Amino acid sequence: MKPYTSLNLIQEDLSSGALSCVQLVEYFLSNIEKKKHLNVFLEVYDEEAKAAAKLIDSKLKEGTAGPLAGLVVSIKDVLCHTDHGLQGSSHILDGFKSQFNGTAVQRLLDADAIIIGRTNCDEFAMGSSNENSAFGPVLNDIDNDRVPGGSSGGAAVSVQADMCMIALGSDTGGSVRQPAAFCGIVGLKPTYSRISRHGLMAYASSFDCVGILGKNISDVAITLETIAGKDEYDSTVSQTPVPQYSKKLKPADSYKIAYIRETLETEGINPEVKGKTLEAIEKLKNNGHEVEVVDFPLLDHLLATYYILTTAEASSNLSRYDGVKYGFRSPNTTDLESMYKKTRSEGFGHEVKTRIMLGTFVLSASYYDAYYTKAQKVRRMIRDETKKILSKYDFIVLPTTPTTAFKLGEHSEDPLEMYLADLFTVQSSVSGLPTISIPNGTDEGGLPIGLQIVSDDFQEDKILAFSEYLMNLN
Ligand code: GLN
Repeated sequence: MKPYTSLNLIQEDLSSGALSCVQLVEYFLSNIEKKKHLNVFLEVYDEEAKAAAKLIDSKLKEGTAGPLAGLVVSIKDVLCHTDHGLQGSSHILDGFKSQFNGTAVQRLLDADAIIIGRTNCDEFAMGSSNENSAFGPVLNDIDNDRVPGGSSGGAAVSVQADMCMIALGSDTGGSVRQPAAFCGIVGLKPTYSRISRHGLMAYASSFDCVGILGKNISDVAITLETIAGKDEYDSTVSQTPVPQYSKKLKPADSYKIAYIRETLETEGINPEVKGKTLEAIEKLKNNGHEVEVVDFPLLDHLLATYYILTTAEASSNLSRYDGVKYGFRSPNTTDLESMYKKTRSEGFGHEVKTRIMLGTFVLSASYYDAYYTKAQKVRRMIRDETKKILSKYDFIVLPTTPTTAFKLGEHSEDPLEMYLADLFTVQSSVSGLPTISIPNGTDEGGLPIGLQIVSDDFQEDKILAFSEYLMNLN
């Protein structure tokens, strides 16, 4: 079977009879098998996916198939899928099975998408390289000595290595966009509250978003319009109507775009990443768009704000894993207290424990105001300042990451070095704004570089149309 680059092409061949869903699933399963060493999937649902494909093939014949017929999807191991394992790549949830479908997962299934497996990620989505998984790292398919990014590393490589068309991931501080950039694919973090969080394992609830990784804009757009929107199971989800994004991909004639001076003057930025960002800016100018530089002095405070608030929320969210309700319970316990302690000490990995302790510290009575309250105030300033820029411009563009994919083990010793990988992605997360990462060429060694496009709340339609335009601009 030929490799397909979009759902549109798949659906053309499905309707002409040149292709069946069964063939498609078998093709992706064979790629998964061939590239097992990449450690992308924690579980592959081969028989189930083949059975679903058979059913959808017969629906196609009867003309009753849903809009996503032919879309083969992977889901990150943080999304609930009835009767399927779910463990946030952590030993603390060993043996746990989900009792319900998350809303995003349910809507995919209702539209006849086929779920092929659940993907490896950093434990509880905490990380930027996928090296924090309890099940070993995922390898970048372009260079197996390098990381795919994180925390949705398995999700990104499942698309990169042609094991499915679309991957659902989660993005709290860049976990969809950063791996998309490292793997040369598209990654969308929608506006906070655009997609229901029902059935998304909680890391930092005021930041967490379901995100979408794909090979092209139209596949991401149709997936978004299927899974977004109001949901009776999540009272925080937005009631804003969901446009048909896939039908709104025509760009405007001209745009006003800002880029942030400080991002390109950052000490740790790789010169090739900077060069490609400037090239994209030049290209836009040459095509008649207005592109201007703006200042954003708060850049220096982004990571501290993000890591104070997310660790605080994580310490509270992860208190539920105590050996009583879910998954793993330490066998070495003598009484209730030792059960809690031993279960949590043995079940969680190093990074997760570090963050729970940090978060507990910033929420403790003596330090609450100095850290947590202050970070909340700075969060508001960051959102206000970013929205001020967006009141004058259609988009902000900035590199997705300061560097290209780094080597496995390169940043494992020093957490601060690892956190720097998130420098450019956390601004939108702290602000709740929609942002996409699209491929923006490669460095001299062939490693992909990503470009982020940020817009004001709920302007995913604008972002997607502009991305489609920019990805086709020569
Ligand atoms: N790398 C960031 C972190 O570790 C982002 C993670 C995410 O978006 N889930 O917090």
